[in-house]
Amino acid sequence: MDPGNQEKPLVKDNVAAQVINGQQIAKSIRNHIRLQVKKLDFKPGLAVIQIGTDPASTVYVNHKKKDCERVGFHSEVTRLPSNTSQEEVIDLVKQLNQSKSIHGILVQMPMPSHVNEQMVIDSILPQKDADGLGTVNLGNLLIGREHILPCTPGGILRLIEKTKVKLVGKRVVCVGRSRLVGKPIGLLLLNRHATVTFCHSRTTNLGLETKEADILVVAVGKPKFITEEMVKPEAIVIDVGINRTGDSLIGDIDFKAVSKVASFITPVPGGVGPMTRAILLENTLKLATTQS
Ligand code: NDP
Repeated sequence: MDPGNQEKPLVKDNVAAQVINGQQIAKSIRNHIRLQVKKLDFKPGLAVIQIGTDPASTVYVNHKKKDCERVGFHSEVTRLPSNTSQEEVIDLVKQLNQSKSIHGILVQMPMPSHVNEQMVIDSILPQKDADGLGTVNLGNLLIGREHILPCTPGGILRLIEKTKVKLVGKRVVCVGRSRLVGKPIGLLLLNRHATVTFCHSRTTNLGLETKEADILVVAVGKPKFITEEMVKPEAIVIDVGINRTGDSLIGDIDFKAVSKVASFITPVPGGVGPMTRAILLENTLKLATTQS
């Protein structure tokens, strides 16, 4: 048997958890995409719209532009003032829907409170929905027809697959039930026959739930929210959280303590974040090659 396909034995030998390097995996995805793009006779194009000047959003949008350059995509970034009306945003999306050089469209979140995010996202044609967050693409995921996956859940899935764990029958606990992360990653894993529990702010005895998880995915947005006692020995622990403390970023997991009990763990930064960006590129390439 190919040793690369074997599950890691479930024996904890007092060695710290293996860190799943999202940075490295994302780089290899980008390299693969760059090679694919070279074979095309056109450039896949991604349009990103930012409404307002939120500094974190500006950083994310700049990263997306740079990622496009790295893999040879065409990219268009439009920055709109924060008081832009929902209708104006949707008008711009509609223009981009018609553009021949644009294959994927993304509107950076969070959007200002006067804008209905889902209405804006749903104005993107499903065949240009690079973030996979439109009702059509999320609905496809619900019925098990996976094509364009939401980027963060898609990235998380790839990180979990790197551990070679067999998902069938595994207990998964998702802490967080957002449309962006918690619900879709739960669905992706349910589609792979894991037994999935969703936890949220009204969950009672959270620690009892998380302690049952063979795979624990945490997307809450509270620094070091998950402690060592809440984690099952040998669990695979995926930290989605991004919390800014001063100049540094930390996740929702107490990384140092949880590393002592988990078998695999993702770091923050360098885990889910780079994978989210890599899946956006993958989605754009997929949309570009299915449109032309
Ligand atoms: P949301 O704020 O939309 O969702 C947070 C979820 O956490 C909600 O479902 C909420 O429950 C739940 N929650 C809040 N408090 C508790 C609690 N005490 N116990 C259990 N559950 C709780 O956030 P997102 O899903 O958009 O993002 C979550 C985190 O992931 C953030 O830090 C964000 O920055 C990060 N993120 C990182 C990405 C990446 O690429 N690495 C991409 C996207 C997000 P309820 O539904 O009941 O309110």
